[in-house]
Amino acid sequence: MLRTRTPELSEPQALALTRYHRSLARTLALSAAALVMVVIPVYQLQELLLLGMPDLWRAHVGWRSLPMIIAVVVLAWCSWHRDGYGAPLLLRLLALSVMAMIFGLFAVNWIADSNDIDRMTRGVIICTFAVTLFSLKGARELVVFFAAPFVVLLVFLQVSGHSVLAAIATLFDPLMMFIIAAIASEVLYRTWMAAFLANQQLAEHAATDSLTGLSNRRHIEPQLAGETARARRHQATFSVLMADLDHFKRVNDRYGHDAGDEVLREVARRLREMLRTEDRPARWGGEEFLVLLTDTELDQAEIVAEKLRAGIADTPIEVNGHSIDMTISIGVAQHQGEDDPLDLIRRADQALYRAKDEGRNRVCADPR
Ligand code: GH3
Ligand code: MG
Ligand code: MG
Repeated sequence: MLRTRTPELSEPQALALTRYHRSLARTLALSAAALVMVVIPVYQLQELLLLGMPDLWRAHVGWRSLPMIIAVVVLAWCSWHRDGYGAPLLLRLLALSVMAMIFGLFAVNWIADSNDIDRMTRGVIICTFAVTLFSLKGARELVVFFAAPFVVLLVFLQVSGHSVLAAIATLFDPLMMFIIAAIASEVLYRTWMAAFLANQQLAEHAATDSLTGLSNRRHIEPQLAGETARARRHQATFSVLMADLDHFKRVNDRYGHDAGDEVLREVARRLREMLRTEDRPARWGGEEFLVLLTDTELDQAEIVAEKLRAGIADTPIEVNGHSIDMTISIGVAQHQGEDDPLDLIRRADQALYRAKDEGRNRVCADPR
């Protein structure tokens, strides 16, 4: 179903939307600029070569230069800014300049009472259609592209003593075209927006562990690989914590599986609450959690691990009227030299086993 309004977006969704919007705007701006560079000179040549030189050719060239100049700016800017920075604004400017051009041409011919009025009227229809394809935000944008130069035209005709009503009557077909185009551009906008949101939700769904809301293993593994590559390339470092609930089976056995789930949810909530936003906690497996700490050395990572351990051990977890004392053991390891992600995980796991062996509810660091 198409939505009438953009729903409330989470911060990452809003960021993804901006990125998508920019890249779409860049693609559209480049295509629109190329189109302008080809089609407008063709029309100018048609006038010169096929229709004979019209008296108003200077004015025609003048008006046609406006979108051509902006198209050159768009091509240069968008080739330079590959991330689409500034593209939405330039795309709008280009669309507006195309409509300004065609209404400008109409005004020139109207005032001169030339026999090219019909051709200019058809031009308004063609331009409205083209601009519809390039309006990113649906009807509201198209209204601005069309209405702003149209109103300027009417005011200009009124002020210069020409009949506004006669001009509107002549422009009746373009006005109808505009209404159709506004609806079409709105449908286009809502379609891509709905597709974007559906795609986002799917991606988030695939990346999230449904019980705890943390990242799942499939999502964190590529991030580990990415951090490893970054650490190797930039002499940076990072650490991982591998945390495992102590005697968790007893919770399931004693209070039931649902209570166990509730405990897992509460542990995940506390981990998230105690970590900084740039730390990345994930549910690694059943009752095992991994935390990726970027730009963090071993001693700092141990401090974080100790804080997490205490945060679980110091406050019992309330489930269905039971107060459950829960503890976690944590293994800590820092990325070293040519480590690949598996090496690092293995070292964090070994540290975790040691923490279990030494009596649980403790933090052990990989000695390297
Ligand atoms: P240890 O201190 O040695 O880690 O003891 P433990 O009992 O925690 O160890 P073990 O890894 O053998 O047991 C983990 C248990 O966690 C077994 C499994 O039934 C339970 N578990 C795994 N995933 C879930 C889950 O999603 N929900 C619930 N309720 N239990 C789970
Ligand atoms: Mg366990
Ligand atoms: Mg376990």
